[in-house]
Amino acid sequence: MAGILILGEIEGDALGSITGELATVGQALAATSGDEVAVALLGGTPDSFAGDAIAAGADKVYTVADPLLADGQIDAYLSAFEQAVQQTSPSVVLIGKTELGRDLGPRLAFRMGVGVAQDCVELSVDESTGRVSALRPVYGGNAMAKVTFQGDGIQIAVVRPKTTEAPEPDTSRTGETQALSVELESSVIKARRVDTVTQASEGVRLEDATIVVSGGRGLGGEEPFETLAGLASMLGGAMGASRAACDAGWLDHSYQVGLTGKTITPDLYITVAISGASQHMAGCSGAKHVVAINRDQDANIFKSCSYGVVGDWNKVLPAFIETVSELINS
Ligand SMILES: Cc1cc2nc3c(=O)[nH]c(=O)nc-3n(C[C@H](O)[C@H](O)[C@H](O)COP(=O)(O)OP(=O)(O)OC[C@H]3O[C@@H](n4cnc5c(N)ncnc54)[C@H](O)[C@@H]3O)c2cc1C
Repeated sequence: MAGILILGEIEGDALGSITGELATVGQALAATSGDEVAVALLGGTPDSFAGDAIAAGADKVYTVADPLLADGQIDAYLSAFEQAVQQTSPSVVLIGKTELGRDLGPRLAFRMGVGVAQDCVELSVDESTGRVSALRPVYGGNAMAKVTFQGDGIQIAVVRPKTTEAPEPDTSRTGETQALSVELESSVIKARRVDTVTQASEGVRLEDATIVVSGGRGLGGEEPFETLAGLASMLGGAMGASRAACDAGWLDHSYQVGLTGKTITPDLYITVAISGASQHMAGCSGAKHVVAINRDQDANIFKSCSYGVVGDWNKVLPAFIETVSELINS
């Protein structure tokens, strides 16, 4: 059987948004091939999320339940998902470039003796061969490469989160759910998770925020980020940062936006003292509107922004915050 198989992800007590994003990508590929889009849900009790996966765009859901899959051990996931792929024989496998997927994708490809397209930001079907083509950033985000799968083996693509919008759940969608049985031995688990540290975060998550305010190295230190955090919270958004600011130790790397940080797709992205290096822009190219404050009129960020202010943030930011505050309170 040919088809598209997605590695679904369950985050806590909800279906991970990457599952809906991949279902959207899968349905777009299937529009050409007519393939069925299936989601494999692995976990301790994955059945309860099957309806959500169908509402998110799956035509079919395969559930794989095993106690060894309950606590997210990658070796157990890899073994179970490999067996799910063998049993369902898809032509395309879609995996999110998440904490789990970025490792699982290449390991699965190696085991199956096929190639993998990592860090894809766009997938399409090559008209001449019918094979999947993937667009991926290369040379540290300075160029995009289009690669097309050759031969007739399984095509495995690891897709960057937030490059496609997850659809609003459509509860009127219907689909079949089928339980797969796999053989899992605890001996497959070579790496063990010894601890989980949950980072406390206030307000909206950076990846989910519709408004993000980010600061860069030009802020000169840790303290101005408190002002940015205040602005972000005033706007009901989240704060981000450039890698240079995180590397300087002013903020934790969980705030980093960019190629090696988080991909964000806010409606409004306000950058303060960020140069707009390609590696930073790779993480925010999906922002609908970019506002930039930078004292260098030739800064790269001005090529990508809808509104730009050339000036010292020390002068521009207080006036900006005052105006935002007036508008919010009026
Ligand atoms: C493989 C690789 C991956 C990378 N991944 C990432 C990534 O994920 N995210 C990321 O951000 N970077 C990433 N980088 C680093 C990236 O190339 C840049 O070095 C980084 O984004 C620069 O951060 P910045 O804009 O804060 O600092 P700078 O480039 O130092 O820019 C600071 C800006 O602040 C402005 N400024 C200074 N003072 C003021 C002032 N008083 N008022 C107003 N403006 C002022 C300056 O004009 C300048 O434009 C990566 C690099 C590589 C090689």
